[in-house]
Amino acid sequence: MFTDSHCHLNFPELQSRLPEIRAAMAEAEVTRALCICTTMEEFEAVHGLALAHDNFWATVGVHPDTEHMTEPEVADLVQRAGLPRVVAIGETGLDYYGMQDRKGGRSIADLEWQRQRFRVHIRAAREVQKPLVIHTRSASADTLGILREEGEDGSPGQAGGVFHCFTETMEVARAALDLGYYISMSGIVTFKNAQDLRDVAAFVPLERLLIETDSPYLAPVPYRGKINSPAYVPFVARQIAEVRGMRVEEVAEVTSRNFDQLFKGVLA
Ligand SMILES: [Zn+2]
Ligand SMILES: [Zn+2]
Repeated sequence: MFTDSHCHLNFPELQSRLPEIRAAMAEAEVTRALCICTTMEEFEAVHGLALAHDNFWATVGVHPDTEHMTEPEVADLVQRAGLPRVVAIGETGLDYYGMQDRKGGRSIADLEWQRQRFRVHIRAAREVQKPLVIHTRSASADTLGILREEGEDGSPGQAGGVFHCFTETMEVARAALDLGYYISMSGIVTFKNAQDLRDVAAFVPLERLLIETDSPYLAPVPYRGKINSPAYVPFVARQIAEVRGMRVEEVAEVTSRNFDQLFKGVLA
């Protein structure tokens, strides 16, 4: 059985096809998925998926790219994190990619609100003792620095979490592992030009590895460019099995076990 640790099933292109996607998941032996929140506005829809289906769970959080929407306070996150089937805080983190085009020519200094928002999520996660789902893009030094400053330095009692859709270097992987965090591989690991990432996938200790789709984005080869869904997470597992010289069933089993370890709430 495979577990998709990160997907966006409430996005319209997936939500509208949910019965079909659930059937495809069953067919592909993808038995569980974590539905990830990116705005406070969508939380109810994400949570609704987890309440309606006993193999879905939910997170609460605001993505670093989200702008002009509700800005959460620690108490807002804490309150929602206490609801049934909410097992993590996120996705949260920092995204400095495309400062010219995506960020309208702003500077990294201008993105202080992102760093502040990230701190709010970390504080909430520590308060409720639920793990963080971390998104970091072109911002790894600040992401790691803020985690450490907020006490997420690998010491006992930390919230912990996962660096999702990992695309960083071996060095960043090592630093994340040093903090006690997990690393999740997406379909990018199957892309032709992603040899560096395959090297990371071979390096991460097995007990810290997760797999995900980040659907509807980033469909793995052979579906690259198409709409992704949790049913495709076995292609990520297959690639990891290949670079590690393992059987795909083992990767499925270990990453599912790691999912239970990290997101303890799924066992409740
Ligand atoms: Zn993300
Ligand atoms: Zn995501």
